[in-house]
Formats: sequence, C-alpha cells, structure tokens
Amino acid sequence: MNRHTLNLAVFALAAVVLTGAALSWANAQRRNNRKTSAATAQLQNRAEAATDESGAPDTRRDVFISARRAPNAAKFGEGTWLNSQPTTLENLRGRVVLVDFWTFGCYNCRNTLPTLKRLDAQYRNKGLTIVGVHAPESDYEKGIENVREAVQRLGIKYPVVTDNDYATWRAYGVQAWPTVVILDKQGRIRFTHIGEGYYEQQEQIIQKLLAETDVATRTAEDKTDLSQQRGVNMEERVVKSEEEWRAEMTPQQFHVMREKGTERAFTGEYDASKKHGMYVCSACGNPLFSSEAKFDSGTGWPSFYQPVSEQSVGEHVDQAYGMTRTEVVCARCASHLGHVFKDGPRPTGLRYCMNSVALKLNENNSGQN
Ligand SMILES: [Zn+2]
Repeated sequence: MNRHTLNLAVFALAAVVLTGAALSWANAQRRNNRKTSAATAQLQNRAEAATDESGAPDTRRDVFISARRAPNAAKFGEGTWLNSQPTTLENLRGRVVLVDFWTFGCYNCRNTLPTLKRLDAQYRNKGLTIVGVHAPESDYEKGIENVREAVQRLGIKYPVVTDNDYATWRAYGVQAWPTVVILDKQGRIRFTHIGEGYYEQQEQIIQKLLAETDVATRTAEDKTDLSQQRGVNMEERVVKSEEEWRAEMTPQQFHVMREKGTERAFTGEYDASKKHGMYVCSACGNPLFSSEAKFDSGTGWPSFYQPVSEQSVGEHVDQAYGMTRTEVVCARCASHLGHVFKDGPRPTGLRYCMNSVALKLNENNSGQN
C-alpha cells in the first residue's frame, strides 16, 4: 500500500464513519420528532376530551366536531329547487349532506366547483348529497332563469335551491361566500369551512361520516337510546352499511326505513288488516307488535297502542319540520319504523303510527296465546 492509497483508505473510512454518524443523528432527530408529534397529539386529544365533557354545542370552524357536541342543522328555507324535487333534511336523514352556500357570480365559489362536482360524482352513490344553496350577491343573481342558465353552464348536477330571501343563509349563520357545511346522517353539523381550499379535509370528513352507522352513533353517543336498547344484546343487533341495506331492500322500504321516509296514507299493506299474528321488523325479523294491540286509528297507517315488549323498539326525539315528534326505530337493526304519539286509546294512551312497509305479519303467532 503506497502513501497515496493509504490516504484514500483513510479518507474512505472517515467518510463511512461520518456518513454513519450523520445517518444516526438524522434517525435520532426523526425519532424525537415523532415523539414530539405523538406527545402533541396526545395533548390535543386530552384537550378535546376535556372540552368535550361540557356537552355544549361545538361551533368551531375547520375542525371535525364530535357527534355528541354537534349542533343540529337548521332546515332549508323556501326556494326554487333545480336538479331535484324539493327536499328537506328529514328526507335526507341517513345520508351525509354537504351544504354549499354560493352564488354564480362569485369567483371564489366557482373555484370550488371542480371539487364539489368531483365529490358529487364519486360519493353520491355511496350516500352523499350535495345541496348548493344559491344566496345571491346582486339582483342579477336573483333571477331564476339566470341561476338556471349558470347551473347548466357550470355543469352542476347536484341539487341547488335558491335562497333569495337569505332565510337559509341566516339560519346557518353564514357570513361569506363560499361556505361549506357538512352534516352527518342524523342532520348534525360536523364541519364548517369558509372560503376556498380544505378540499382534502372535506373529503376525509365525508368518508368518516359515510362510515358512521346510525346504530354505532346512537349507542356510543346517545345515552337515551342506549338505555332504550337495553333489552337487546350487542351480539343480537343487526348492523349493516347503508349500501348493504339498499341492496336487500325495495326502494320504498329503503326510503322509509333507512332514510326515515313515510309511505302515503291508506296505501300500505297492513293499514286495514285485521289478521292475527305478530308484526315483525321487515328488515331484521325482530318481533315488534302483536295484532292484539292494533287498532283502527283512521289515519291511514297501521296503528298500535303498545309494542310487544319495551325492549323491541327504541325511541328518540325527532325535531324535523319544526315539530317535536318521537321517532320509533327497531331496537335490533335501528331501522326507522314510524312515530309514537300521545293520542292513542286505552290502556296506554299511545299511538304507534307505523309504516306498513317496515312491518311483516307472521300470521297466527300473536304472542298472546
Ligand atoms: Zn329491525
């Protein structure tokens, strides 16, 4: 080995040592960073949990609001609907709803359209409904023909409702164009963002909310419902995704039971039925009402004065349409069945007003004899 090659060898060795040192320093730094961010995340979680205990409605922007503290969304004001029949939040129960406050003359609003159109195309069949609330800035933007022309020219396929009197705008406390509000399947506000951007966060939140099931939300977060489901074991419960339900139900059944719709009065199979037997949930077979408790209410829907057992149904307060009603759900699969009112006959004074399509009569098994 001559002097020259020795020098080279020393140099190479030094380089290896230095590189090694640099690498382990970088690794240590990375480890530290990871530790720091994990610690920060833990602190943040703890802070969230602490503020969450207050139970007060959480109206912060740009953060994912927990279901327990999410405020209920206001209903849509009167307006002209484009791209869909007039609809309500009640009709959209069971779907994630993105409400976009916009106007066609607003440059920033138009910048958000590619994202909104993509989300509509990608998630509409998975349970997302986008509603564009068109709140005009100028008189020109109030003209329905101008709105119609703009919606078509901009290639908007999702429902748009005009808000010329700003009733919806005010009800949601909106201050600027565009504002995006994302509601969960129960119609609660889980995310709000003003202005362009936050597209990735919006998509992630939509995915999270689509994955939430009614049953999971209720049992985890609504103590009232939890106590009302006490008779049904967790293992006995039927939990399916909305897509699974949709695949095995008729469209009408899905609309009523998963989207909380109501069948037209006097059209259901069991409205006038006097047959004896046990009415079970048409989705999961859970026994709900004995024909012994059925009475003719004259309303056009099968009516009962009591469920077969306290544990067979769950109830919770429904404030859609500006009314306070008590919704009745199947305790086993959480499907919507109808409502209960306090104007029924003796002995209970209750009227369980059900949708025929949510029931199936198993004849000669009334549970009474
Ligand atoms: Zn059921």
